[in-house]
Amino acid sequence: MIPFIDLKAQFARIEADVRRRMDAVLSHGQFVMGPEVFELEKRLAEFTGAAKVLSCSSGTDALLIPLMALGVGPGDAVFVPSFTFVATAEAVSLTGATPVFVDIDPVTFSMDPADLERRIEDLRDGRHGPGLPESLAGLTPRGIIAVDLFGIPCDYPAIQNIGYRHGLFVIGDAAQSFGASLQGRKSCALARISCTSFFPAKPLGGYGDGGAVFLRDAVDEELYDLMTSIRVHGMGTGGQDKYTNVRVGLNARLDTLQAAILLAKMEIFPEEIDMRQTVAAGYAAAIDPDRFTAPRVPAGSVSAWAQYSVLARDAQSRAAAQERLKAAGIPTAVYYPKPLHLQQVYASLGYAPGSLPVTEDCSRRIFSLPMHPYLAESDVRRIAEVLNADVLNAD
Ligand SMILES: *Cc1c(COP(=O)(O)O)cnc(C)c1O
Repeated sequence: MIPFIDLKAQFARIEADVRRRMDAVLSHGQFVMGPEVFELEKRLAEFTGAAKVLSCSSGTDALLIPLMALGVGPGDAVFVPSFTFVATAEAVSLTGATPVFVDIDPVTFSMDPADLERRIEDLRDGRHGPGLPESLAGLTPRGIIAVDLFGIPCDYPAIQNIGYRHGLFVIGDAAQSFGASLQGRKSCALARISCTSFFPAKPLGGYGDGGAVFLRDAVDEELYDLMTSIRVHGMGTGGQDKYTNVRVGLNARLDTLQAAILLAKMEIFPEEIDMRQTVAAGYAAAIDPDRFTAPRVPAGSVSAWAQYSVLARDAQSRAAAQERLKAAGIPTAVYYPKPLHLQQVYASLGYAPGSLPVTEDCSRRIFSLPMHPYLAESDVRRIAEVLNADVLNAD
């Protein structure tokens, strides 16, 4: 049985270091905001090139904190892809604002800049239709959350240009792309504000929940202070004591133990990102392009390969491939079987099937193969062999 992701192989490598660092926390006893938390923030800033890093309790809170700091709330529209994990839109809803769903590029599966701009202008000019339901009328466009789906950085130059021209903030949801890069710049330092997650299955995963917000530019000191306050119950940051509360905030701190674990994992992380490239290259060379579309990383980008997702010709061929792989002891998963605009939670917005055609087409045909740094070359070959034996589509 090949594991979908293999945390055991990684643990065997780092066990001594993880135990040593956890022991140190148990000894000093500063379980909340201990020194490891600040050491990790510094390490993450060095690694990504971001000016400031604020660790927090999850990737979801890493999205919510900057939205709160920017004053996003009721009556505001934030443009998000529909083809993503629910947290991207959920963070918007938690502020009282409304997510407006944007279609994706069929190659990178990330927000399509042309579709984004069309929907911004349609909302601004009050042009409603199936792709922009009447329920959104009157909302004020405020910002964009772009998602680096499966580990590939989205088209930040184009998206930021659109954001700039329409006066909208851009947040990069880099929950799946920590370790990736675009034109030599690291993920989490591509947009003015970026967020990531340390959920165990993400490229840099802890042994529990965690996340971080990244500010690319040193001039964003004020935003950083505001987010620091929001992280801990809106406390005063001007040297007041912690029982001086100046705004509504959260309890969104990263545990010291998680920070200690992540510091151990950072030691081998760059090498693991390289190992993921080898696995991905093995898949790309072995998958029959006449039967399945392997992911294509745009020139100048390096993926963090959070997922290795391929497209089948149709839903039937996907089901057959998943069955065949399962019978051979190879697990697969579908990210995401139901796009957010068609989820019950967003039914009241009134999006109809067909309103985001590329998203809906991909959700019917996509599935992910096992992907982790420790996947052996022989396993990659075997997975591709079983995948390619597609009798349904045999010519
Ligand atoms: C995992 C994920 C999140 C949320 O992260 P959590 O740490 O689970 O809260 C947000 N956005 C995307 C794209 C994700 O994959």
